[in-house]
Amino acid sequence: MTGKILKGIAGFYYVHSKDGNLYECKAKGIFRNRNVKPLVGDDVEITVLDEAEQKGNIEEILPRKNALVRPAVANVDQALVVFSITHPEPNFNLLDRFLVMMESQDVPVHICFNKIDLSEHEKMADLRKMYEAAGYPVYFTSIYENKGIGTVRDILAGKTTVLAGPSGVGKSSLTNLLYPEAEMETARISEKIQRGKHTTRHSELFGIGNQTYMMDTPGFSSMYLEDMECGRLKEYFPEFEPYEPDCRFLGCVHIGEKVCGVKDAVTEGKISQSRYDNYRLLYEELKEKRRY
Ligand code: GDP
Ligand code: ZN
Repeated sequence: MTGKILKGIAGFYYVHSKDGNLYECKAKGIFRNRNVKPLVGDDVEITVLDEAEQKGNIEEILPRKNALVRPAVANVDQALVVFSITHPEPNFNLLDRFLVMMESQDVPVHICFNKIDLSEHEKMADLRKMYEAAGYPVYFTSIYENKGIGTVRDILAGKTTVLAGPSGVGKSSLTNLLYPEAEMETARISEKIQRGKHTTRHSELFGIGNQTYMMDTPGFSSMYLEDMECGRLKEYFPEFEPYEPDCRFLGCVHIGEKVCGVKDAVTEGKISQSRYDNYRLLYEELKEKRRY
């Protein structure tokens, strides 16, 4: 039988089978043959050891589409990052950091600004311009006024999505509104995992219906980029590329260089000042890290 790993904890894997059951599995044997560890999001082949208790063993990990390092999850189709348009104000540095992290792992990102019932149209237009120019689809929602929800539902349908965003922006309100059943799923898993034993937050996928899965990303506000060469950071700002032929040097990092197409584009308002400023901050941060 095949299924998907929703959660891994203390040597147990919770596998959501095609017929909708949740099996508590070990992974005996697979380490010996291959050097891969099962990941949340993995599609696996299991044998059922005890049908009544819903216990099984993972026999094989099916080929992965991809495997992210942060968060540690396999077979991700996309990410949805949620900020509120106000209350709290969006933290663009955090948003741009997340975009870089996903770009470097080749994951397409959708950006959602929630709580538009509290905002003016002008601000929405500015945000749309800023991030669509960078190549990201931007959506606006209000849970309170039930706006834009259908669009988000369409984006998620049939896909595995990493959900991210700071707390207080409306992520749980959004998921509860979209998938009331997901709450039940969470309860079902918590019931299986003995209480008290595990208090730390682990990555966990939620089956939210018809081949649709979502993963909450813990620790969003303490996201840091490691092991990235500062010289490569520019590759993860897709809006720079069209202006790079105007840079004098091939290896231009668009900071101290005199003749620079990217810096000109910022001056001319073709690239967002805020995005560029965050690029510089991240660049300095990565450069600083490399010194040690
Ligand atoms: P999370 O921490 O991202 O999961 O955020 P929550 O879903 O817990 O929401 C945080 C607060 O924002 C709650 O008080 C929600 O009622 C409120 N909230 C959520 N969505 C909206 C919205 O569309 N408009 C307004 N005005 N408030 C919202
Ligand atoms: Zn340049």
